[in-house]
This record gives sequence, structure tokens and C-alpha cells, in this order.
Amino acid sequence: MSINFKELANKYQTPYYVYDFDHITKQYEELKGAFRARKSLIAYAVKANSNLSVIKHLANLGAGADCVSIGEVKRALKVGIAPYKIIFSGVGKIDEEIRQALELDILMINVESDAELNRVELIAKELGKVARISIRVNPNIDPQTHPYISTGLHENKFGVDIDTAKRMYIQCKNSQNLDPVGIHCHIGSQLTQLQPIIESVKIITDLVRNLKAIKIELSFMDIGGGLGIVYKDEVLIDTKEYAQSVLDAMFKLDITVICEPGRFMVGNAGTFVTKVLYEKVNGNKRFVIVDGAMNDLIRPSLYNAYHRIEVLNDNQEFSDCNLVGPVCESGDFFAKNVQLPKTQHNDLVAIYSAGAYGFTMASNYNTRGRVAEIAYEKGIDRLIRKRETFEDIIALEEEFIK
Ligand SMILES: *Cc1c(COP(=O)(O)O)cnc(C)c1O
Repeated sequence: MSINFKELANKYQTPYYVYDFDHITKQYEELKGAFRARKSLIAYAVKANSNLSVIKHLANLGAGADCVSIGEVKRALKVGIAPYKIIFSGVGKIDEEIRQALELDILMINVESDAELNRVELIAKELGKVARISIRVNPNIDPQTHPYISTGLHENKFGVDIDTAKRMYIQCKNSQNLDPVGIHCHIGSQLTQLQPIIESVKIITDLVRNLKAIKIELSFMDIGGGLGIVYKDEVLIDTKEYAQSVLDAMFKLDITVICEPGRFMVGNAGTFVTKVLYEKVNGNKRFVIVDGAMNDLIRPSLYNAYHRIEVLNDNQEFSDCNLVGPVCESGDFFAKNVQLPKTQHNDLVAIYSAGAYGFTMASNYNTRGRVAEIAYEKGIDRLIRKRETFEDIIALEEEFIK
């Protein structure tokens, strides 16, 4: 069954995001199935798409949540993900977030520096609690992806080196308020090479063994997310091979594997649908101007990311153009130098693979309301987030006008 974008445009107006929930189910089952041989938890990386209905759908399938703010933790709890399936990651947690995470009794706080470990220890002590900790190791491995989404090199801000990690585990062991339960690494996003992942798993497996020798026994190995998807013609990591290689690299460690995919779950479930306003020619450059913009989907502007684009008309007369939005920035484009057919006012344009890091990165720039989000499941569509109105946008400012 394929989604009728025109029908949805009539019903909900444009622009909108639509997510195929059956695709999300398929992705989840595929990955969970690949790890069948072991105790595993698929902790969905909420930042990829944090719509409550999306998280709820994954919760129903059995997923946990990997969160990078207390807000995301609360979203996960809100839709019924059990605290023992929730991980809190991120390089810069504020005290209040740490406090709340401890009070909410989530599975573990993923610590990314020794300064942060000290903070967590202090706050746990104040609260009279024991903080379950995992430490994010930066294995210094090049994930061979876009530099903005690479996280596994020492030059990136994420995690700590092996020696620091080891010291931090010993600090945990000697603390009344810290309980080291896990180890974590996440080397980047949109990964299409298996080798760097395996090398990282080997590095952290070694550390887990060394820790075991000094009586620090971890229960969880979090191998991060980052599995790539097809935007254009990428050759992907086979999920069965991924799981098998990870389990092989861990050899006989008796430990629960946690995997934190974001993009993999939702990226290709989502389509951003916008409509043509005008065409124009400046000099000899053709522009197709649509009602969606960089504030709705920033990936092309931010990462020069490629999204497959289709104009939903029958015109066969293709020519080179830039597909752009109405926002006052030259960076406001969805594609440059792309072959698109001649368009007319109100023709729909589908921008595919927009389910991850699409809506979650949206803003109100140019006082544009964030767009509607729609779920499509078993042939039925339903609204899962209303289009923002002008009143919504000004709601937090209005009372302060003097
Ligand atoms: C963003 C992030 C993920 C998810 O990355 P994807 O590329 O979307 O799979 C997983 N773990 C951590 C710690 C992250 O920050």
C-alpha cells in the first residue's frame, strides 16, 4: 500500500511530514531479529524523531529509548517506555537533568567526561542515591562518514579515551554513590562501513575484560547507533552481518547488548511533502519555489544532505533547477542543480527519506509555524501533531509586550 500524498495534502494542507509506521515496525523487527541470539535491547535514539506517537509505536514494539536531554527522557516515559529501558546520554548534562534522571530511576546515565562523573556522584550523594553509570568511550576510530556526524575520533567532543574510562570505572567502584553497569560507544551517524564499528566493539570488549579482572563487572554493552540508510545509492551494512560481527567481536562476554539506532528506524519511513508556489528564472538559472523551507527540513542546508525528490505531476519535460523555499537565506534549498519537470502552481513535491532529523530539527525561523505530522499505518492516516498557528508561535512572548 502506498501513501496517497495528494489526498493527505487535501486533508491536512501542506507542507507536512508523513511517517509510514509499518516501515518503522519492519526496521525494528529486522534489527531485533538480528540480535536474537543474545540478550539485547534496541534503545531508539529519540532525537531522530521525537513525536510522541512515533516513540509510542516503538514502545509498543518493545523498544527502549536513548535520550540526550531530560525532555527526551520525559517523552519516553510519557508514552510508557519503562525506566529500566531508558538511557540518558550527551556531553553536557545540566545538574537539574542529572537530578531528575536519578529521581526517575532510569537504566543508566551515560557519562562522557570525568568532570561529569564527579557531578553525577555529588548529586547522587545529595539525593542519597546510587547512580547507575555507563561510560562513553571514544575509541579514536574514523567512522568514514560526514565530518559533522562523526563522533568517534579524539578530535570530536564525545566520550573519553580508554585510560580515562578505566580510571573513571575505578572511581565508580570506590564510590558509595556510583554503580558502573555499562559501557558505551557511538562513533557516528549514517555509517555504511562495518569495519570501524567492529574495531570499536573490540576496543571496548578489551576494556570490559580488563575491568572484569579487577572485579568491575558490567552488565550492558551499548554499541551505539549510526546504522546508515539509503538516501540515494548507498550500499548498506547488512543487519544480520552487523549483529553477527558484533557478537563475534564480543566473543563470550556475558553481557546484554544495547543498540541505539535513530535514523535506521525512522529515516526512510518519512516523507516531507510540500507544494509548488512559483517557478522563476534568474539569468539562466531556473528556480522552483515551494512552500516548505529550511526551517522545516534543514538537512540539505546543514549537511549538504541529499534527499530524493519527486514532483508529483505527469510532465515529462525535465530541466535543471534549484528547489528552494521562501526563507530569506541563500542556504534555503532542498536541492541544487537537480533535474525536475516543468511545474505548475500547487503541484506537490515529495522529499523522501525525511523521517530522521527532519521535524526534530525544525524551527520557527521567519515566523513559520512548524508543519503537521501524520502517521500512516495499515492504510490509515492520522494526525499526530497539529500544524502550529501564529498564536502558537507567539504564545510565550505575547504577555511581555510593553
Ligand atoms: C544520535 C545518537 C544516536 C543515533 O544515531 P543514528 O545515526 O540516528 O542512529 C545514538 N546514540 C547516541 C549517543 C547519539 O547521540
